[in-house]
Amino acid sequence: MRHVCKPGDKIRGVCENCKALAEALYGYGTIKLDDGTAVENVMRALCDDCGETIAVAHQSAPAIKSARAKRDAEKARLRTTVRVSRPLADFAASQLLDRGANPERLDLLLKAFVSMALDGASARRTALVNAVKAASDPVLNLRPEVTFQLDLSRQLWAVLKELQPQSGLRNLSDFVRRVLVVMDEDSQSDESVRRVVLYGT
Ligand SMILES: [Zn+2]
Repeated sequence: MRHVCKPGDKIRGVCENCKALAEALYGYGTIKLDDGTAVENVMRALCDDCGETIAVAHQSAPAIKSARAKRDAEKARLRTTVRVSRPLADFAASQLLDRGANPERLDLLLKAFVSMALDGASARRTALVNAVKAASDPVLNLRPEVTFQLDLSRQLWAVLKELQPQSGLRNLSDFVRRVLVVMDEDSQSDESVRRVVLYGT
């Protein structure tokens, strides 16, 4: 087995804080990335004199890498809120629940819609946008009283922001409400929701 640092291992190294050569002891603990993001369970050596981290064991590289990736993915998400009527909210929740998804993940239905629009030929995409524009279910006239927090990836956001103007709808909530109606009416939406629930989150 190649060298693995264990709690209690000692090293000598330069401490930036003491500006001197120092003794340090390895142990598991939290380190901070340059932007302050904390990474737990990192094997690092702390200066005996001041407690500053003077070295991080190579074996902790995967933990640091995954913490950095998680932070970047988080930063790349965008949050917004949309308002829908309670019957429409219930409908969306039951669509999700029926497929084993978290009923609060409205974003999955939008993702399913976007994936139908992107997977098809441009005629299909136009047809979907037109269906959104033409949606006229009475449920759309009800007071939008339920607020959903939408947590969208930058990619999904970009596609929604491209489709929305094509539909001529200015308000994102309005667009989303109509997408939910279309998701109930389109013959391929079932399949698309199932796929997104299974493979994409
Ligand atoms: Zn020190």
